[in-house]
Amino acid sequence: MVTVTLFKKDNCQGDSFIVAEDITDLKNTPVKHNASSMSLTSDSDKILLFQKTNYNGDAMFRNGIKQVTKMSSPSKGGKTGFGNTVSSARCTPFTINLFVNIIANDDGSFEGLRSSDEELETGGFDNFDSFIADIVESANNVWHNFLIHLEVSEIVLRKSSKLHDLKNELYPLLWKDWQKKGNANVYLVRGIHKASGICPPVGFGKGAVVSCETPTDIAREGDILAHELGHYFGISKHEEDSQNLMTKHSDPSAGILTDKQVEEAHKTLTKHIGRTSLRNE
Ligand SMILES: [Zn+2]
Repeated sequence: MVTVTLFKKDNCQGDSFIVAEDITDLKNTPVKHNASSMSLTSDSDKILLFQKTNYNGDAMFRNGIKQVTKMSSPSKGGKTGFGNTVSSARCTPFTINLFVNIIANDDGSFEGLRSSDEELETGGFDNFDSFIADIVESANNVWHNFLIHLEVSEIVLRKSSKLHDLKNELYPLLWKDWQKKGNANVYLVRGIHKASGICPPVGFGKGAVVSCETPTDIAREGDILAHELGHYFGISKHEEDSQNLMTKHSDPSAGILTDKQVEEAHKTLTKHIGRTSLRNE
């Protein structure tokens, strides 16, 4: 139950509107496009406010119990540029479709996850679907907190021993041909030279590469996926805080993101990658 209230005046005064569901245009509400303050009264409250209608433009994310006494003032819980500009509000996750590419050996094998094509005919195993479902669920445990839902749209098996154990200079080959428009492209390889994941510096437009060196450790693999997608969604910098999802680490993080990081991701997603709505969650 979302209990976020928008107010027309500062300090939670004046006409108000309770955001009980996603709203693409606040024009016909008592606060119109002039919300000046906001209160969140439940621990589980989370909200994204956008400068433009239909969840476009710059985004402001807030969660947990708090009051924003002046929307346009960072020192009062707000954000610069949000004075009389709040035009749409979102309280349920956006769905991001994942186009998942499995980069197996030439014979179709993937250590610990899939037998070779030949062995499959004589009773080998293929655990990829359940592995992918598990790590995506793990990554969703993080991203749901920030109003993003990851959904696998397609899984494709690629056979290339050359890219299965990835050397840094070769990773552009992954997304050269293997991309799907409107999706976040994900590549699962066996190992990456000197890294557990790769995402290009700009963060968007190429793909998130996840190394599956420890396929039995779902928490770690899910954390790598969530982290690389964070880069993909435009969060370019690493954080010092070891609890932050975007820290450089070898143990799973606590999956924390700052408001600023969440806003960066949603701003990127307004411009790139298809977003679909998922209202009943
Ligand atoms: Zn990183």
